[in-house]
Amino acid sequence: GSTIGIIGGGQLGRMLAMAAARLGFRTIILEPQSGCPASQVANLQIAAPYDDESALAELAQACDVITYEFENVPVEAAQRLTEKKRVYPPPIALEVSQDRFREKAFLNDCGIETAPWQLVNDSAGLAAALAAFDGRGILKTRRLGYDGKGQVQFRGDGSDDVAEALAAIGNAPAILEGFVAFEREVSVIAARDRAGNVRTYDIAENVHSDGILATSTVPSAISSATAEMARQAAEKLLHALDYIGVLGLEFFVLPDGTLLANEFAPRVHNSGHWTEAACAISQFEQHIRAIAGLPLGETARHSDCVMENLIGNDIARVPELLSEPFAVLTLYGKAEVRPGRKMGHVTRLKTSK
Ligand code: ATP
Ligand code: MG
Ligand code: MG
Repeated sequence: GSTIGIIGGGQLGRMLAMAAARLGFRTIILEPQSGCPASQVANLQIAAPYDDESALAELAQACDVITYEFENVPVEAAQRLTEKKRVYPPPIALEVSQDRFREKAFLNDCGIETAPWQLVNDSAGLAAALAAFDGRGILKTRRLGYDGKGQVQFRGDGSDDVAEALAAIGNAPAILEGFVAFEREVSVIAARDRAGNVRTYDIAENVHSDGILATSTVPSAISSATAEMARQAAEKLLHALDYIGVLGLEFFVLPDGTLLANEFAPRVHNSGHWTEAACAISQFEQHIRAIAGLPLGETARHSDCVMENLIGNDIARVPELLSEPFAVLTLYGKAEVRPGRKMGHVTRLKTSK
């Protein structure tokens, strides 16, 4: 069989490596951290920084196709790899999703609506943008934010200081987004293969707690028309990026069913973990199929379900979870428990049995 390279060694890399192994592929991960989640299942780890010249050459040499499991892979490194081997998803997807400014602009250019937003360069710019959004909004760093980090919320009660807010995000380049009074949040996990075929999974409804995904429920309570719009937006985005692989696209849903795209991740996505328990072909296998040039698999779900993230001390509940019937448990093999750290997840299948 052939060999798949994965840049990044976290839990997403681990689950990709497991899916690849089931289809008969070997996997090699590029990840500086020893004992990382993916290292426990991949065939080989190249332990070096993601932009290490000789490590990248070694990876290209040893692999038939290279992918990644996190969106902050240095674009330069991914770009250089494309000269030697196939790199999927294409590095343009990294470039766009690494910068919230480019991401929002790209979505809007595709005809996908977002919350109103403005580039913020300094406190005067922030004050002006805030005034335009009635004092309510969320300041977000352009780069490197995740799990709600690098964000400051303005509540519109006049208590917020623009200079203080900018200092709180390290005076990093930022955007201000208008505050969205959403009814719910949903996401779509979509895949596009080398021939340009697209398949989407059912829309998941996501609940966040302290900025971190807590649960994903399928089906979502949205109308079928709203679900169809979400699928179509993802399809447009995949084609515009000439994307190959799995992508996750997050939305806010307004009370009238209007969808506003929030952000996308050029990789398998936490809100798609339910597919491993409730679909014949998981998002992980789907990604491996897409990048390896295999046909995409069925995306229909066989069960309704709720996926719950196990964060920090939630891991102490594993003994009870093990005794629950129809609870599909996945642990990431992380030795150290830290508050806010994703340790695993459990998907409860709804069944009449
Ligand atoms: P992720 O871990 O999903 O990558 P992130 O740090 O990139 O998170 P966002 O997804 O932009 O951040 O925001 C995190 C959460 O904060 C959203 O899922 C939503 O609940 C809330 N949020 C973000 N932007 C807005 C907004 N403009 N209006 C209202 N709530 C928002
Ligand atoms: Mg994000
Ligand atoms: Mg998000």
